[in-house]
Amino acid sequence: MARQIDTLVVGGGSTGTAAAWRLAARGVEVAVLERRPEHPAHRAGESLDAALAPEGSFVSTAHSDTVLLPLVADSVRLWRELEEQVGSVVLRRVGGLRHGDDPALDEVAVVAPRFGIDAERVDPAGTRWPRVRLDTAAVWSPATSAVGVEHATARLRVAARQNAAEFRFGTAVTRIRVLGDDRALVEAVPVDEGGARVGLAEEWECRRLVVSLGAWTTKLIGPLVVLPRLTVSRVETATLVASDGSPEPIPVLEHRRSPRDPRFGHWLAPRLVAVPVPGGVEISWLGDGPAAGRAVRDPDARPARPPRQAASALARYTREWLPSLQPSETTPLRSSLHTVARDGRFVIDRVGPVSVAVGFSDHGLTFAPAVGELLADLAEGIRAPAPFSLRPGLRAGAAASGSPVASGAPAASAPVASAPSPSPSRS
Ligand SMILES: Cc1cc2nc3c(=O)[nH]c(=O)nc-3n(C[C@H](O)[C@H](O)[C@H](O)COP(=O)(O)OP(=O)(O)OC[C@H]3O[C@@H](n4cnc5c(N)ncnc54)[C@H](O)[C@@H]3O)c2cc1C
Repeated sequence: MARQIDTLVVGGGSTGTAAAWRLAARGVEVAVLERRPEHPAHRAGESLDAALAPEGSFVSTAHSDTVLLPLVADSVRLWRELEEQVGSVVLRRVGGLRHGDDPALDEVAVVAPRFGIDAERVDPAGTRWPRVRLDTAAVWSPATSAVGVEHATARLRVAARQNAAEFRFGTAVTRIRVLGDDRALVEAVPVDEGGARVGLAEEWECRRLVVSLGAWTTKLIGPLVVLPRLTVSRVETATLVASDGSPEPIPVLEHRRSPRDPRFGHWLAPRLVAVPVPGGVEISWLGDGPAAGRAVRDPDARPARPPRQAASALARYTREWLPSLQPSETTPLRSSLHTVARDGRFVIDRVGPVSVAVGFSDHGLTFAPAVGELLADLAEGIRAPAPFSLRPGLRAGAAASGSPVASGAPAASAPVASAPSPSPSRS
């Protein structure tokens, strides 16, 4: 007999956990099914990263995209609300500097303040950050914050549980069936840390199903919802922790350089990020490039090794741009999955009982609380902004944020989706 619940969230990364928090805050009965264990041992999601859950993530507020800026403002507000609710600090508000070959720089300082996000142009010759060398004029955004992805997701979970959300870890969803506009049936099996099945399957029947599966979205619901093409890339890079023992924190730094720039040289990707972490500054390459972003067909495939030159390139960068820091420790491998949809837009929409949120690339943590709120809206029948629609061409213009969700006929031709079964039970 299937267990009845109002809303089931599949995927307990930062997006699904934030959705559970916002749903439960509205008094919705909600449970989250996550196949990984609660405590990090063998994790390989985006928010629940492999062996080295990074401290050095950041919540970025320096955006110029007018579709994303309202979400930035909502997230900043909700991160504060989370901290108040759980009574602990989640974001370290050290501010952020964005500089280099960055076509959006001028716009950020003009557009972001219109959405209540402080951002100002600063001179590269300024002495406000004596330990930082700036390539060009920069944008300073004081609300940009350093954050540990694991810590932030754990705090979201504490808040969700306080609001009576239930979490089931070690529970892999194997099959989803849409039974009608307001009914879905989900089959899940208990699995161990290695993903092997360890018990009997159980069924859940829900009115709303929130799918927040990151890189695994297509694998599990591809046949059920017409998704845009999602590209999953495995990012493998060394991360260098550098320190000069100074108690004065360095802000979050985002430095861009075009591969067409003759000075690109030893850069392994067009974007470098430095984030203050306990004990130093964590420096890594992000974005497309030899060190970052290799498309993978199967998110469960084993990570490869990062390029050998990654560590020396980071050390060289540090000497050149953060000369007061001493490279102290190089982590050999940081592996993560980034999922990007069509033109890089997030996908946040509902069809029948199934809401889906995916395509956050390396920005998902920044937006998690606001996306959680949009998912809670969708469950109640309030549509997300049109650019996040599964079918943006059809809905753009007609669908402003806040309009009711069209009665989403479930994909009638393919109402059942199954994931490859976990390995047979050992018990
Ligand atoms: C190393 C790294 C650094 C990052 N840095 C930043 C940063 O600085 N700033 C920022 O904003 N963002 C950052 N991100 C990105 C951000 O963390 C992600 O975009 C965001 O967390 C996406 O979360 P998600 O919940 O959508 O997906 P995920 O975290 O991937 O969650 C999906 C979950 O679904 C689970 N799952 C899969 N299949 C099943 C199944 N069959 N049944 C049940 N559960 C299943 C997975 O185990 C996983 O936990 C970073 C990510 C990584 C990995």
